[in-house]
Amino acid sequence: MKKIAVIGSGTMGNGIAHAFAQNGFPVSLIDISEEALQKALGTIAKNLDRIVAKGNLTEEQKAHTLRNITTYTSLQEGVQEADLVVEAATENVDLKLKIFRDLSTFAKPEAILASNTSSISITKIASVTERPANVIGMHFMNPVPVMKLVEVIRGYSTSDEVTRQVVEITELLGKIPAEANDYPGFVANRILMPMINEAIYSLFEGVAGVEEIDTIMKLGMAHPMGPLQLADFIGLDVCLSILNVLHEGFGNPKYAPCPLLVNMVQAGHKGVKSGQGFYTWTHGSKELIVADRFKKK
Ligand code: NAD
Repeated sequence: MKKIAVIGSGTMGNGIAHAFAQNGFPVSLIDISEEALQKALGTIAKNLDRIVAKGNLTEEQKAHTLRNITTYTSLQEGVQEADLVVEAATENVDLKLKIFRDLSTFAKPEAILASNTSSISITKIASVTERPANVIGMHFMNPVPVMKLVEVIRGYSTSDEVTRQVVEITELLGKIPAEANDYPGFVANRILMPMINEAIYSLFEGVAGVEEIDTIMKLGMAHPMGPLQLADFIGLDVCLSILNVLHEGFGNPKYAPCPLLVNMVQAGHKGVKSGQGFYTWTHGSKELIVADRFKKK
């Protein structure tokens, strides 16, 4: 595989484009928004500067990485020469089905079509293409330049050969692939989201406060941060939507989202992105301040 196309240049798309470009692959970075593309190039340059400052990359390698990325606002133009397409557009099922229908028409017939979706069925996405054996999940973790894991998700019809090639290219990025089959939440979110939900239930039922829950899980389990802080980072709306996928997909009440989470999302308290969640988030500040509502009286 030589040429890569990345669809969506947001949080994940810019990191994925960066990872491929730094490892020598020509990348077409595609977004419907020219502003998002320019912002992504700025973020990639800033992240490369950080690597240069640490002495892990030369200025020349940085320039070469940036030269490897070409931006497009047309999907058709951006994907036509790609051997591997990684879709990292907004998490919306209708949008992803439309993109994969278009890929079926515009990408080379032998191209591999990967999705970075956190929760949408790869098998469902594959079903709208004429090449389901070539459709696979490449679930990168956030922040992409730092996180080593790529969860490789085999849809119901994904071929062994496509899986082998995706595993190989993941390793060429210096990342570690781990294979999972296509069931709701795959592995990462199937295990992580019930833990976050249980932490929210512990708060909801008054078992402990925000700080205590996070301190117990952080220090007791050697997690880098507590589950409530992590939920704020991921976005409470995203957590709720993944729990709904698990709940509907398995039909098991153990995945039912905690009513407190539902209320918080309905009230617009979505975590870091809205400034309010279990903590209050002020731009630029690293201090952890428990949200007023959850402060001890
Ligand atoms: P984001 O909102 O930061 O970026 C999405 C980008 O997609 C935006 O720039 C938007 O303009 C673009 N877009 C929308 N429609 C498009 C289209 N038709 N064609 C091209 N571009 C289009 O989202 P994100 O957080 O980067 O998430 C992207 C994907 O990655 C989602 O499927 C999400 O579930 C998954 N994911 C996210 C995380 C995370 O922590 N953010 C982690 C793992 C996986």
